[in-house]
Parts: sequence; C-alpha cells; structure tokens
Amino acid sequence: MKFLCTCGATICDGTDYLPYKAHMLPDVNYYDPFNIVDDMLDEIAAGRQISDADYMRLRQQFPRTRTMYQCRECGSVIIWNRDFSDRYVFNPEFEDTPHDLLDGTRKDLSTKAQEQRLPLRQDEA
Ligand SMILES: [Zn+2]
Repeated sequence: MKFLCTCGATICDGTDYLPYKAHMLPDVNYYDPFNIVDDMLDEIAAGRQISDADYMRLRQQFPRTRTMYQCRECGSVIIWNRDFSDRYVFNPEFEDTPHDLLDGTRKDLSTKAQEQRLPLRQDEA
C-alpha cells in the first residue's frame, strides 16, 4: 500500500518494521494483551500443553488497533480507520516537531525548543 500525504509526499507501506508506522491501541484495551499472556502463562504453569489452535485463539483475542503513519516530510500524523476506507490527518503544532516520533528506536520525544517553550504537563506548571 502507498498513499499521498496532504503535503504531497508518498508514504509507502510494503514491508514490516517501518520506522514511520505504528499501531494505535486504545487505552481501554491496553491491558488486554497482558491479560492474554498472563492466562497463557498460567496454563503453561499448570502443565497444560499449548497447541497451535491455542496460539491462534490467543492472537484472535488481541484487541484490534488502528494504523498510523507519520509523514517524514511534513511531520503530519495520519490515522487510518480499521478498514482503510478513510483517514484523519493531524498536523504538528510546532515547526521543530520531530518527524520520526513513531520510530521505536527514538529515545526521547521532546526537543530543546519545546522544553523551553511551555510546561509539557499541567501538573508540572
Ligand atoms: Zn506530509
């Protein structure tokens, strides 16, 4: 799959482990994968053999995510609905917003300019 960002850049998704792609998991479903793994570990600890069908059943219980991308050119974040029939685009608030926020190898999301500009959290004000 490939599509155009609103800035005109082409965003390609033809392989796994893309640094500009992420899977959005709603907070109401955030703990579901942990519970599924806990249940599986409990079954293993109880001595039950885990079959391929069990793995598939567990995978099917994982919550569905929405796919999101960040345009490397303009920094916009594009969130697709689950059937990829429509998308929502969010533009960066600041010019120095990093364009690699979805890169899992990125260590820090803040920039020096952002740190000097505003309190990042209301409880820090
Ligand atoms: Zn763009």
